[in-house]
Amino acid sequence: MIRIGHGYDVHRLVEGRRLVLGGVDVPYERGLLGHSDADVVTHALADAILGAMRAGDIGRLFPDDDPAYEGADSLVLLSRVMGLARERGYALVDCDCTIAAEAPKLSPHRDAMRENLARALGCPVEDVGMKATTTEGLGFEGRGEGIAAWAVCLLDDGRPGSKV
Ligand code: MG
Repeated sequence: MIRIGHGYDVHRLVEGRRLVLGGVDVPYERGLLGHSDADVVTHALADAILGAMRAGDIGRLFPDDDPAYEGADSLVLLSRVMGLARERGYALVDCDCTIAAEAPKLSPHRDAMRENLARALGCPVEDVGMKATTTEGLGFEGRGEGIAAWAVCLLDDGRPGSKV
């Protein structure tokens, strides 16, 4: 049976922080605020996988008041989520992500992000989609107050059956 998962995350843009997206250090004057490295798209993808597993969210798995996760590399958290999925008999079929950011331009970093995420998931890079968009100046992303990311994934739960 194929299970679908969706994840959404937002982090605030502030001065004096690195901007880490899909494990790539993106050169920019500001970065995302968070307890971990605040890698918003990696968090959205981890939540998508947990969603497909019906296993809560990364906030529950890696609490942001736990010092163990301070400054954590979110790719490591993503591989732990995927490891948990495998332990429970799930296999990743496919995933796709979208980042909404007014700046900086993210297309030059897209393939590096896909490669990092694929490595963390233990899947071929072809199985990881990545897109970025501005919001035409609208909303918090458009005002440069933060960056949002969405992710969807399909997991095969290893059990026979089909709803189609
Ligand atoms: Mg987050």
